[in-house]
Amino acid sequence: MELTAHNLGYPRIGPHRELKRAVESYWRGDSPLDSLLQTTSDLRHQAWTRQKAAGMRWIPTGDFSLYDHVLDTAALVGAVPRRFGSFGEEVSVDQLFAMARGLLEREHGHGSQGIAPMEMTKWFDTNYHYIVPELTPDQAFRLSSRKPFIDFLEARQAGFPAKPVLLGPISFLRLSKVEGNGDAALLLPALLPVYQEILRQFGELGCEWIQIDEPALVLDLSPAFQDAVGIAYRGLRAAAPNLRMLLATYFGPLRDNLEAVFSLPVDAVHWDATRGGSELESVLSRIPPGMILSLGIVDGRNVWRNALSASLRSIERALAVLGHDRLWLAPSCSLLHVPVSLEAEKRLDPELRSWLAFADEKLREVHLLARLAVHDPASLPALEENRRIQESRRASRRVHDPAVAQRVAAIGPLDLQRKSRYPTRRKAQRSLHPLPLLPTTTIGSFPQTSEVRKARARWRAGGLTTAEYESFLEGEIRRVVALQEEIGLDVLVHGEFERNDMVEYFGEQLGGFAFTENGWVQSYGSRCTKPPIIFGDVSRPKPMTVRWSQFAQSLTQRPMKGMLTGPITILQWSFVRDDQPRSSTARQIALAIRDEVADLERAGISVIQIDEPALREGLPLRRADWPDYLTWAVEAFRLSASVVADATAIHTHMCYSEFNDIIDAIAALDADVISIEASRSSLELLHAFVHFRYPNEIGPGVWDIHSPRIPSVEEMVAAMRRALAVLPAAALWVNPDCGLKTRSAAEVVPSLRHMVEAAKLLRKELAEKGGSTS
Ligand code: GLN
Ligand code: ZN
Repeated sequence: MELTAHNLGYPRIGPHRELKRAVESYWRGDSPLDSLLQTTSDLRHQAWTRQKAAGMRWIPTGDFSLYDHVLDTAALVGAVPRRFGSFGEEVSVDQLFAMARGLLEREHGHGSQGIAPMEMTKWFDTNYHYIVPELTPDQAFRLSSRKPFIDFLEARQAGFPAKPVLLGPISFLRLSKVEGNGDAALLLPALLPVYQEILRQFGELGCEWIQIDEPALVLDLSPAFQDAVGIAYRGLRAAAPNLRMLLATYFGPLRDNLEAVFSLPVDAVHWDATRGGSELESVLSRIPPGMILSLGIVDGRNVWRNALSASLRSIERALAVLGHDRLWLAPSCSLLHVPVSLEAEKRLDPELRSWLAFADEKLREVHLLARLAVHDPASLPALEENRRIQESRRASRRVHDPAVAQRVAAIGPLDLQRKSRYPTRRKAQRSLHPLPLLPTTTIGSFPQTSEVRKARARWRAGGLTTAEYESFLEGEIRRVVALQEEIGLDVLVHGEFERNDMVEYFGEQLGGFAFTENGWVQSYGSRCTKPPIIFGDVSRPKPMTVRWSQFAQSLTQRPMKGMLTGPITILQWSFVRDDQPRSSTARQIALAIRDEVADLERAGISVIQIDEPALREGLPLRRADWPDYLTWAVEAFRLSASVVADATAIHTHMCYSEFNDIIDAIAALDADVISIEASRSSLELLHAFVHFRYPNEIGPGVWDIHSPRIPSVEEMVAAMRRALAVLPAAALWVNPDCGLKTRSAAEVVPSLRHMVEAAKLLRKELAEKGGSTS
């Protein structure tokens, strides 16, 4: 008998992003709720059918969501923030969407301000975003949705072996924020009865297995949370003595939580063997008699085919300890994070395609392993084929470029260092381009109008020649350069009109990158992204941006900033090869960016910005792993930037303001200027700088570009004053929070005028006070 193969969660978006279309059509008012619900019911049936066809013994239900599963859980336990109004027996679909997206003034009623949506943040270290539950210190909970039961019954009635999935109470609380910075662990006694009720009801429905997801168990847990784990699971056990509980952990090793996890009164534990690998022996020695281990053996977060023989070694080891009845196989985590199926990829190079596995293919791998584990003779040819494929990847010239290997080997400490220290560089930079105190600039992109997008689409479809498209782009650049001169900005940008996306644009021009036709994954709500696949050594065959920056510089006497995406951001927003450490891939990308930096400088560009909005996202889940990551991430940035002369200014940009805990690393980047998000959270930002004297220049954003509001001169002056209170005037720049690509010209033009006006006012004031000079 083969081993039990099961799945933890399946992509929701549908093979062709059907969910996105249905949800957005409902939001626009183009289709009624009924038809949205019909589409989603069809999507669920299709997903169950595919999973069953792939050989899954247990199929997850309740993993589907109209928007986000953490939001669903908040609704399930009745954690609806007060501003969204009261709710009856159940939270409605419209309330759910309002929580996720907020309500505009006109939707909410006359004279009101509208209602702000709940916050969104990254789901662990993935590129999926969840809605952060908002709780109060005296939060009351009650069962407020039937969704888990309806989904379960729907699947069971259709004849599928349904296993409901819940986000567990520990993870739910750990991911929530409590008003006034309260400790969410203290809310367990209030929350637990709702979970107990849910389990009791599933028990009554004759449900056999329930999967309770606790990815929080791979995080650093406070003592209060550590205590809560045992209390929660003893409570759940007591509520439903006959329901079998599978506790699912994933995204990393358990480390100091391992002991506790295997002492819980649950029937099975799912453990991520792809990320926890070296822990296998501890797991096998701690697992109590009778408990089932679900081995997360196929990477649910990446797109590579499984190396079956290596997996089999772990499986055989586990089998030797546990026996056939106590070992299940599964993907490492929900397949939410990979595209649905390779089926739609018709244009991918066949060799590369043979190295890949998306959700459906991953499930077939799990099932194949379940048969290989028991030496099912019919499965042996597939093992042979897999060996050949792994070998082809290992030896492929597409993957290994000796020239890249040589360059990487030759990197020395001097390549990671600017020629002089910052004070010397600053003098050289200012003598090349004298700048006023509080210089003004923007982050790079200007509004991507529908004309820009249409022109690109027509060019891609062959409706515009390259010459026509390029002259269109030149027209756009002329327009924004003239505009910036007229407004009076000090350091200009070309507007990034040639870019669809700040990673894709570079990936398309770099060797070692591939793009799929249909490899979509959910980013948040109805938003999906199609990450590039980094399959091989990275090289830059020719300049990627020089043409545009050089053209833009030719139109003006003022400095034109060259605009690049940094190595960590490119790495972070792609599917990355798994046959070498991420740090090695980062170093290769850094070398490619370094070449571009050198070419920009040679072309007369003397200010170059290397954006790293994803530097913080890349932080490992456990604090203990931060220093190692920060070391190689900072090195990659420095490798990309350090090639230039002292007089060339390196700028960088980051889209966040939580700096306190990584400020040393930020300073170690040694960029001459860093622009950051600040207008929404000036206080947090200031904290960091009170205690840490940032050595170089910094532009705290004075305009929140995520909002359609046009900030006034006074507001921006006030924001700058807050910065001036903790940073010397000579170190400060004036700029927006982020790129302007999603804003309209009607918002951008007056806001930039206000921004320049604000800088001028403050310069005058500082001059009168006889303040510092640059
Ligand atoms: N230069 C990019 C832009 O302005 C930066 C965007 C980002 O950091 N997210 O669009
Ligand atoms: Zn940004």
